[in-house]
Amino acid sequence: MSFYKLTHRDYFEALKEGRLMGLKCRECGAYTAPPKVCCDGCGGTGVETVQLSGKGVIKTFTVIRVAPEGLEAPYIVAMAELEEGPWIMGNILDVDPDKAGMDLIGKKVAVDHKVLPPLNYTSGEGVAPVFKIIS
Ligand SMILES: [Zn+2]
Repeated sequence: MSFYKLTHRDYFEALKEGRLMGLKCRECGAYTAPPKVCCDGCGGTGVETVQLSGKGVIKTFTVIRVAPEGLEAPYIVAMAELEEGPWIMGNILDVDPDKAGMDLIGKKVAVDHKVLPPLNYTSGEGVAPVFKIIS
């Protein structure tokens, strides 16, 4: 039995299948994503696994121009506030990083994913959130 109601492995497996999972607190009602041992709202452990809408709004972003080994720059890393409240990090692939400007902030997005190849410093293939601009 894990301390985690929702493990990172299950979170990323679901993401790969197109579902964004999170935790909902039975005590304060706050949502937590990516998964943690306790609630982001109150620190309580009375959390249960729920599927999130996968919709959010871009709150901030940066353009990476020097990539970690195995990845190619430039690319955009953004933080989106989900409809349920938590902020998650992800890439924006459908915008040219050289043209990314402040107008990205406030854009509505849907959470998708991309599969990352195994890298020297990872244990096999990975999966990462991607934000698709919807309006
Ligand atoms: Zn709570």
